[in-house]
Amino acid sequence: MGRVPYRGFLIAIVIIGLVVFIASQSGGRSRGEVRSYTYFQEQLEAGRISSIQVKGTKLLVIPHVGERFVTHLANPPDDLTTFGAHGADVEALPPGQNWGNLALYLLPVLLMVGFLIYLMRGVRSGGDGTVSFGKSRARLVTEENSNTLFRDVAGVEEAKDDLQEVVDFLKDPGKFHALGARIPHGVLMMGPPGSGKTHLAKAVAGEAQVPFFSISGSDFVEMFVGVGAARVRDLFETAKKNTPCIVFIDEIDAVGRRRGLSVNGGNDEREQTLNALLVEMDGFESQHDIIIVAATNRPDVLDPALLRPGRFDRQVVVDAPDVRGREAILGIHARGKLLSRRVNLRRVAKRTPGFVGADLENLLNEAALVAARKNQREINPEDLDEAADRVLMGPERRSRVISDREKRIVAYHEAGHALAAHLLEHADPVHKITIVPRGRAMGYVMQFPDEDRMSATKLALLDSIGVALAGRATEEISFGDVTTGAQNDFRQATDIARRMVTRWGMSETLGKIALASGGDSYLGEYEGTRTYSEETAKVIDSEVKTIIDEQYSRIRLLLKENQEVLDTIVEVLLERETLHADEFDILMQGGELPKPLDEAPIEIPEVAPAKRPRTQDEQLQEPQLPSGMMPNPS
Ligand code: ADP
Ligand code: MG
Ligand code: ZN
Repeated sequence: MGRVPYRGFLIAIVIIGLVVFIASQSGGRSRGEVRSYTYFQEQLEAGRISSIQVKGTKLLVIPHVGERFVTHLANPPDDLTTFGAHGADVEALPPGQNWGNLALYLLPVLLMVGFLIYLMRGVRSGGDGTVSFGKSRARLVTEENSNTLFRDVAGVEEAKDDLQEVVDFLKDPGKFHALGARIPHGVLMMGPPGSGKTHLAKAVAGEAQVPFFSISGSDFVEMFVGVGAARVRDLFETAKKNTPCIVFIDEIDAVGRRRGLSVNGGNDEREQTLNALLVEMDGFESQHDIIIVAATNRPDVLDPALLRPGRFDRQVVVDAPDVRGREAILGIHARGKLLSRRVNLRRVAKRTPGFVGADLENLLNEAALVAARKNQREINPEDLDEAADRVLMGPERRSRVISDREKRIVAYHEAGHALAAHLLEHADPVHKITIVPRGRAMGYVMQFPDEDRMSATKLALLDSIGVALAGRATEEISFGDVTTGAQNDFRQATDIARRMVTRWGMSETLGKIALASGGDSYLGEYEGTRTYSEETAKVIDSEVKTIIDEQYSRIRLLLKENQEVLDTIVEVLLERETLHADEFDILMQGGELPKPLDEAPIEIPEVAPAKRPRTQDEQLQEPQLPSGMMPNPS
């Protein structure tokens, strides 16, 4: 089905080919090598020419012996008469019969007509979606050809856990329906490029053994308005006939960008496509047993409408792997490669912080190439080193090379957030600390609330500010110098403080009044909602500053008193790169963590998948912030 939309286009190409062929065949009888007129004259005068065909100014010359050739008349009127004198047989043909020229004149016309036909087909099918042009290009990947399984994906255990549920459902939907469970419509995978999102989607298909329709967001975005929308409808039409099944939309940001925000003042085609997608997602009920899995590395640009309940309400983070994950990924891709016994994959994993799965696969491949170039029979550690340097120095990597000193600073910064979250009574407990870079963040601390909160107490808000400021405070305590890494922290802290003053009446000086009207939009506070005087604005600013300053001194003191604990966390963090809640708790209770070298893989604690954890230092925008709710420090 997939190729049919091009039929019109193919016909056009065939016509063009024919035209060009005819053109090249024009004057078919005059084929032969082109020689100079002087050469021709020499031959003629020597009496070696048998016959000459004259066509316009072109001469086809046939010698008594040897190949025929072509030449052009130097001086048309006179020459002709002299040919006969040398014993050649002269035959003159009418010059006008040149099909080639005619074809060349027709070519642009034919092209125009072909293009018009192509255009009209596109528009027509966009209207009703029945003509083949609007058919989706989804590729059907069935059990036979998706032999990727979960065991082929490593280092993204949390994402795998989340997706396991999808697999379980698709394997036996009846079981879930019997219990009255409403299964998720859409699962959105987000993570940096090369972290294995597409790979993971294929593994879901391989595990679930159900039809798997895969399409890329860019396939929807066409030049002609309406085609993308028709493709969406067709895709779902097909999917509904094949339930239970998975529809995988890769790189959904191509269609799912926020509407009305594009630079060129809106893109009708994309908006129509997005609308069609939303309509389809709302349209099918749970008994359809279709699960839509989408992937993006730009969740920040997605239209919030996509993330609403009943749509992509389940979000799965596919992060860059930590040192243990990298080792496991290396293990997977080392299968089938001849590695020397001296190779230690853990060592390789250690020297490749910031590498994602695709980089690691690339690294092993480069190493094999290096070894082959040296005519070795196996890959040696030196080859891996060389390959790592090469991948590191690649253009997109250079910006992510982290020095040991930088890594240490990041570790202190994140340890500061984590320790503050642990020590402050009203702060949310630590869920995960990592110094694996993610997006523009060098590391982050993830906190999880104990229970869902719709409102926050003043003490909890102050502690949130404290946790946000703790990163910078630690840098100052431990290095006597500060970095630019706390920019986002300050924004969070200031945001909370400002709201406390202007919205929640928590300032003693200003009292219990709401100073900001309007609401929160997705993009932050509305401009132009100020309803107070210049003086009040000044008081607000000074109140905000007071809150921040007070919290900063408080947290600085607290961390200073616990410098030793801070150092311990940093050492463990530098060794492991990521600490999960249970490991962090052991550390805080004064326990020892086994060195990763002599331990079995660590069980990752179960997480309620619907709630997206919030993080410190996370640059990705929180997809949805219900208005009026407490702004999480994220
Ligand atoms: P993304 O879609 O996130 O940009 P891909 O899934 O296309 O990344 O990954 C590219 C390749 O890198 C995959 O085909 C796979 O071989 C390898 N890869 C990436 N991540 C992993 C992983 N976590 N485990 C194993 N291989 C991986
Ligand atoms: Mg991909
Ligand atoms: Zn920070």
